[in-house]
Formats: sequence, C-alpha cells, structure tokens
Amino acid sequence: MASISRIGRLLLNGPQATSAMLSSARALSCGTGIPAKLKVGDAKAGSSESLDNLSHEHVRISAAAQALLDVADEKALVDMFGRKHTYLRVSLTEKCNFRCVYCMPEEGVELTPRAALPTLEERKRLLNIFARLGVKKLRFTGGEPTVSNQLLPLLQHAQAVREPGQAHSVFRSVGITTNGFSFKQQMQGLVAAGLTSVNISLDSLQEDKFAKLTRRDGKAMLKVLASLYSALDAGLHTKINCVLMAGTNDDELADFIRLTRDMRIDVRFIEYMPFDGNKWDNAQLVGYRSAIQRLEVEHGILLQAAGGAADSQIAQQKEGGQSPAGSEEAGARKGHYSDSADVNDTTKWYRAPGHVGRVGFISTMTDHFCSSCNRLRLTADGKLKVCLFGDEGLSLLDCLRSGMSDSEVIAEMAAAVRRKAERLGGEKTALDLAHVERKNRSMIMIGG
Ligand code: SAM
Ligand code: SF4
Repeated sequence: MASISRIGRLLLNGPQATSAMLSSARALSCGTGIPAKLKVGDAKAGSSESLDNLSHEHVRISAAAQALLDVADEKALVDMFGRKHTYLRVSLTEKCNFRCVYCMPEEGVELTPRAALPTLEERKRLLNIFARLGVKKLRFTGGEPTVSNQLLPLLQHAQAVREPGQAHSVFRSVGITTNGFSFKQQMQGLVAAGLTSVNISLDSLQEDKFAKLTRRDGKAMLKVLASLYSALDAGLHTKINCVLMAGTNDDELADFIRLTRDMRIDVRFIEYMPFDGNKWDNAQLVGYRSAIQRLEVEHGILLQAAGGAADSQIAQQKEGGQSPAGSEEAGARKGHYSDSADVNDTTKWYRAPGHVGRVGFISTMTDHFCSSCNRLRLTADGKLKVCLFGDEGLSLLDCLRSGMSDSEVIAEMAAAVRRKAERLGGEKTALDLAHVERKNRSMIMIGG
C-alpha cells in the first residue's frame, strides 16, 4: 500500500514530476508488488476504473506527466551510449535434446514451470511490440528451438507483421539457431513460414568427439550434417557455429575450413565463453588471432571478406600497418577494411584463397564488439536481457500478466535498455566474467 501511495503522489505532482520520479514509478510498477490491476498509463483523469486501491484524487495525471511516461517508439530501444537495438533473439525453450558441455551444466538445469512460461499469444504480442519499436531482425533460439511447438506459428506470425500497405514483413531477416538434430524434417514448413537463415551448431566433424561434446550418441552428427546439406540445397543462408576449445576440437580448425572450399557456407568459430556451470577455464580459450595464425599455416593468408566487425588491432593499424589477414575488397591490401562492413555484425569475416565460403570469428573474449551491439534477448521465461552478460532481465511476462498496456510495457523496456552497461554487462574485461557470481547464467537458460 505504501508503494501505491508513492505512485499516486508522483502522478499528482504533475508538471513538477521529474523523469527520475517517473522512472521510480515505473520501477515500482513491474514485478515489484504493485497489484495486477494498477494500470498507470491507462488511467484517465478522474477515473478509478483500473485503480481499485487508489482514491479518486490520486489518479489525476497531468498531461505533462503522461507525456513523460510515453516514450517515443523510435527512441525506446536506444541506450545511453546511442546504440539502437534492432535485433532480437528470442529463446523459445529451456529444453534441449543435446547436453553440450560448454552450454549445459552436467547435472542439467531446473526447468521453469510451464505456467510461468509465455504462451504463444503472449510471445506474439511481444513480437508486435518489438516490431513497433523498430526491431528488423529476429532469431529464434533456445535451448533447442526445434523442440518448441511455438516455432512454426511464431515464424508465421513474424511473416505477417507488416506496416500498413506493405507487402513484406517488418522483420527483414528471420533466422533460427539450431543444433540441427531435427531441423531437416521441419525445414520445408519453416521455410514456407518465412525462415530466411539458419545457424547450425557443429563443434566436431568426428563422431567420437561429437559424442563427448554433446553428451549424445556420435551418430547424431550424421543427422546434423544432413540438416546442413538440406539447408544449403534449399538456398537458405547457412552458417556453422563452432565453439573452439583448446585441446578438444582446435585440431579440427583446418577440417572445418575445408568445408568452405566448394560450398557457399559460412563457418564461424566462437570463442568459448564462461557461464554458470560450464567449468570454463582460460586454458581452454582459443583466441581468434591464434586461430587465424594456425589456419594460415595450412591455407595461406586469409583474405578479409565483406561485412562484419572490425578487428580492433587492425583498425589501429589502418594507417599503413600490417594485418594478420588481407582485405578481399582492396585486392588483399593489408590492414584495410571494407566500407561495406555491417557495423552491427559481430563476426570478423575472412576467406581462404580460392574458397567460395567464408570463415568468421566471434571474438567476445579477446576483442569484444560491445560498442556496436544492437542485440536484445527475450529469454524463454519472458525476460528482456539487454546484454548477454548482464544481470537478470526485466520480466516482460510479468508486465503483460499485470495487465499493462503496450505503452506501459514500452516504458518499462525503454528504462531497461537505458540501464544497459557500456560493455560486458558492466565488467571491465571479458576474463572478469569468469569470476562473477550471477543467477540464471548458464547459456541454455539465457538463450544463445
Ligand atoms: N540449441 C541451439 C544450438 O545449439 O545452436 C541454440 C541454442 S545455443 C545456446 C546457441 C549458441 O550458443 C550455439 O551456437 C552454441 O554453440 C553457443 N554457445 C553455447 N554455450 C556457449 C559458450 N559457453 N561459449 C560460446 N558459445 C556458446
Ligand atoms: Fe542444446 Fe544448443 Fe546448448 Fe547444445 S548449445 S546444449 S544444442 S542449447
């Protein structure tokens, strides 16, 4: 009751209300003890319909205060560092048919009860809100998204979200990240529903090692490869995601690159990241620069390919320095980066000479790309996570279930985005991430 009166007082302050006061009103209104029927943004002057517990005089909201509560749609997902978030990764489930060593704690994870997970209609509503705020790129992930029965209907829904009079979805790219185990069987339906790209996780091309890494039968690797070839045949933009681990699969670097010789496929090596329960150890980390050096022994100087994140070391050397790799666009002129680079692509792209496919590196640990981050995550249990490494997110599900209007949900989202740290969830260096204790941080629970 005390908190309700506080909001009532804030609203009554009208023209004098400061944005700080309004953000504390917002903070109080989501998942923090406010009765479900309290709908601040919807309250009309003199109306007590949705504010059962407040007296009549408490609900007079001045126009000025209301204006402060309404966040302009185009600004809502811009953070304090000017980063505009246009890419949403939606985790559909905490469940998975694999048990990858770097993702899942050995003992498994405690699953959220079904009733506390978003329904299909709730996820659709959230997608509509993100579309309204300018999100243009979607990726469904998990856990394993192909085990979720919401994958197909959500793809269909995403396809149907359009601006008035437009023939195409507002989501220009709708992808999925999958372990590939049952993707092949579902692919036709998913493509018909609007799927444009697929990232398939594959960490070894050797059955016995695949079995060790996934804690599953090594024969499953053949199903993953079948999915990969089907995706390429279907013309989907297809990438392999491979988490490199020293002493485990780094001896296969060159084998992976050989896949790019004749196939138009992108192979991405991801630096191994620390999460709760994955027993991360610095000694297992293979930094992308050392991976490049090793690849160049077999394949010669890698050419830099179009798109992607700049290497911070190379960026500093732009004025005539040497780079570990050549630039394709500049005829292998060393240390030069293409202007066509996508500033939000987190991957550093290269190509082995003469190969049709590309090789990329996601260098979160040794050269983070936070300054160009445009990603938000919606966790399987309906939380907004503004940074992969940040604290537990705002519960959008609680916001919806507390009866908030879309504008109120947007105000909450905007406040959460403005709290986003400049980099690495507020840690100074990526290595510090291994030592911080946080809740809900195994990758399977966050959604990769
Ligand atoms: N199940 C799907 C899959 O495996 O592709 C989607 C979810 S998975 C969590 C998403 C991505 O996160 C995968 O490419 C996986 O390799 C990556 N990932 C998981 N744990 C990781 C870690 N500790 N370090 C780096 N990447 C990780
Ligand atoms: Fe499952 Fe993907 Fe995590 Fe492996 S990486 S356990 S496939 S969610």
